[in-house]
Amino acid sequence: MKQPQENVPLSFAGIIGQDKAKKLLHRAVEQDRLAHALLFKGPMGVGKKTLAKTFAAALNGQRPQGHEPCGQCPSCRKFRSGSHPDFIIIEPEGAAIKINQVRELKKTLAFPPFEAKIRVALLCDIHTMRREAANSLLKTLEEPPSQTMLILTADEAGGILPTILSRCQTVPFFPLPQAEVAKILAQEAGIELESAATLAAMAEGSLGRARLILAKDLLGLRQQIVDHLLRLEPNTPTAIQALGELAESAAKLKEDLGELLELLTTWLHDLLLFGHGAAGSIINLDLIPTFPAACRRWSSGQLSEKLRLMDTARKQLARNCNPTAVCEVLFFGLL
Ligand SMILES: [Zn+2]
Repeated sequence: MKQPQENVPLSFAGIIGQDKAKKLLHRAVEQDRLAHALLFKGPMGVGKKTLAKTFAAALNGQRPQGHEPCGQCPSCRKFRSGSHPDFIIIEPEGAAIKINQVRELKKTLAFPPFEAKIRVALLCDIHTMRREAANSLLKTLEEPPSQTMLILTADEAGGILPTILSRCQTVPFFPLPQAEVAKILAQEAGIELESAATLAAMAEGSLGRARLILAKDLLGLRQQIVDHLLRLEPNTPTAIQALGELAESAAKLKEDLGELLELLTTWLHDLLLFGHGAAGSIINLDLIPTFPAACRRWSSGQLSEKLRLMDTARKQLARNCNPTAVCEVLFFGLL
């Protein structure tokens, strides 16, 4: 998912949360012991890329204000507009960064930077990288060319290869305070603070995920799926057709399908909580009116089984199985 550039601040103060990461980077600069390879590790959508860009701008600015980039010099302006020739962003092509992308990067890095004091290559979502591509990066990570820093980003949940981990200094990122996320969402999207707070909870304090849920109207599709699951009779032609159509809609989300599955997973968790009388921890507050009927329809044993099906679907998608087929099997299992 691309973040709208105009919303991206070019100052540490403008980035919410992540005090630990900021402090760690600033201290490393002050003490002149900045590693050549950094791993920004934490949940998606909490500011890893934004912080990387701000840090790169600060390292290269001509009139730094303390730790902050000045925001005015030619270098800062290029960082802001995304046109700095020495800030290289490598994002996954499809599911992961491919070996060809790493080879291209190595070719570029063999030449000196165009104008930067410190050139920064940002490699995103490194946890999805296959062993072959990762191995071709190891030498560069260990000994980057002069005036070059590599910043890698990864989800905390992701399986990062130990050979990559051991060559980077890890900078930890955390979920954002949900109240802060809600405030920003309410402002950006012009929605009620209450809906924004629900959304922030669904996104588990990830501004990026919350924006994605809004932009792709994932709540609308979640609502449709839940409605159908609550009223369709299993093994009827109507059910087969309706769930088939929903599976097609879901598959059209492509790389964002995982986020829809996350939402359905929190819904199932909510039903288990509701069934056990723990309504205080429920996340999908807007669906509460449908919970009594859902808990009459499915026992907690059945709900646990459905959670296992969600997990299976996620694993199948990670292995590049056909998304429509995966969703069809999943939705029939959820019914
Ligand atoms: Zn500047």
